Amino acid sequence: MIPAVATISSHSALQILKGARDEGLRTILLCLREREELYARFNLADRVIPINSVEDLLDKKVQSELLKENSVLVPHGTLISGGKLEEFERSFEPKVLGNKYIFRWEYDRNLKDKLLQESGLNVPRKLKSHTEISGPVIAKLPGAEGGRGYFIAKSPKDFEEKVIAVRKKGLLKKGEEDKIFIQEYIIGVTLYPHYFYSPLSHKVELLGCDRRYETSIDGLGRIGAKDQLDLDIIPTFRVIGNTPMVLRESLLMDIFSSGDGFVAASKRLVKPGSVGPFCLEMICDEEGKLFTFEFSGRIVAGTNLFISGSPYSDLIFGEPMSMGRRIAREIKKAAELGELDKVVT
Ligand code: AMP
Repeated sequence: MIPAVATISSHSALQILKGARDEGLRTILLCLREREELYARFNLADRVIPINSVEDLLDKKVQSELLKENSVLVPHGTLISGGKLEEFERSFEPKVLGNKYIFRWEYDRNLKDKLLQESGLNVPRKLKSHTEISGPVIAKLPGAEGGRGYFIAKSPKDFEEKVIAVRKKGLLKKGEEDKIFIQEYIIGVTLYPHYFYSPLSHKVELLGCDRRYETSIDGLGRIGAKDQLDLDIIPTFRVIGNTPMVLRESLLMDIFSSGDGFVAASKRLVKPGSVGPFCLEMICDEEGKLFTFEFSGRIVAGTNLFISGSPYSDLIFGEPMSMGRRIAREIKKAAELGELDKVVT
């Protein structure tokens, strides 16, 4: 029996539901109560199960509904940022698309760094203490979502002054200074390739690429250099939206070898490895060298740009293929082959 696709009402839910419907799969929306009207406007869910918060996924009644429907939950960023990932690993019984054990590695900065290093990628250097700062670094605040309050510092003194400024803004609690993740700042162009690894074909596919548009760093170019100096701005990195990107074709070799390296390393460190959608967050420097500073072990919101497909998905499939649809196709194919266990945990 082909399973139904279930997801939570946020992030990339519309794309996931539409993709499942395009592949002929039944769709179930775990809908936050205040959003029921919004999602009804798109009419993409065959069944709506109301929830009060993401934590309701741990509720046995909600889980038993999902089990009765023979559904596969497609996880996205809202699940990861909700925390409680260990509890989710232990007590969420319905099937989850991909590897639910990798989400903790995405959430925890040190585990994340370990997996990226194991993948053989160039990872920006991590500093143990702000006293080691001797060139530009980016300071990532603990628990910050989407780059809010991150700042650039160029010396230990500069770092200390900016810590006081973010504390004043209420973005950092007293005593949390030690939890700031300090990383070498790479000057270049950010790029976020959207990959899909199929355990059925053993191939890594590239389905699209985006750039995140971040405030205020991406708005600085609108202010002249002199005014920038006078205004004494501390740029931050809060994600506001995504813009599409097509890469220089010669970069694709490195893009694919990075994706292959990540899948191989994840198989060694977090069994059964990265399955289905993932993203590597990269910066390309002036030499054309790629640095990877983050990964997402599930669908990323940047894929919402490509609901009717991207230049890359078109080259592979020749039909509109969003990440949501690619997920549904894999679930369908795996179920038809009797190999669903290969694509869920
Ligand atoms: P993150 O929370 O790690 O995804 O970072 C948020 C944003 O900060 C990214 O989208 C980049 O624009 C920027 N960023 C993160 N790490 C670095 C780095 N090592 N060098 C330059 N920019 C970075």
